[in-house]
Amino acid sequence: MIDTGIPSNERSEIRLDIEHKTYEVFASVMGGGNNSNGKATLEVNERGISISPKRTRGLFALKPMDVSWGDLREIKRRRGRFKANIGVGRSELLGNKDVILQFQLKGESRSKADELNSVLDRLPAEAFSQRCPHCSGPVIKDVCRDCGKSFRLHQRKKGFQFLLIGGLLLIIGISLTSSSYQSASGEITVFYGLILMGAVLIILGLIRLVFGVRIS
Ligand SMILES: [Zn+2]
Repeated sequence: MIDTGIPSNERSEIRLDIEHKTYEVFASVMGGGNNSNGKATLEVNERGISISPKRTRGLFALKPMDVSWGDLREIKRRRGRFKANIGVGRSELLGNKDVILQFQLKGESRSKADELNSVLDRLPAEAFSQRCPHCSGPVIKDVCRDCGKSFRLHQRKKGFQFLLIGGLLLIIGISLTSSSYQSASGEITVFYGLILMGAVLIILGLIRLVFGVRIS
């Protein structure tokens, strides 16, 4: 295994009972001081995925990498596109240490995408959870399973922000609506959009503030 600067999380080893398969992909890695992209062969096996780039020279050339199933977090899928958080990189530039791996199946049939999807479907829920920015463990119900750090306070702060923004939008919506009233003709323009958005933000903000959970 080649050191990609991405620490692997030995604590969450997952083995899937699957056949070894390969796919032609366009892959990119972003974040953690590891920005690169290019065509590659993606190999899927019982331990995880391996990326073998077609081109290894150049500033933004992908590096070969192995990612174990237990290191995948926040997996997002859309048709033949896959996006996963694969760890916490070394770079603290830009403030975001998360390493995001994206790949898109190239010239592969839809059944290949379905096949890969069915493999990902078998991963435990923690593979789809958020990644702890401190230890890269899975964040389940806003608490990191590995280091125990709670992200509830952060969610409460966000909730309070939502509440303030929602309240402001509601006030603007109501005042615009009332100032649009024309006493001569009796016409009024109701700013539904602003009022509705304000109300939604207030509700979401309240839930976040009270329960300290992320909802979207
Ligand atoms: Zn943690």
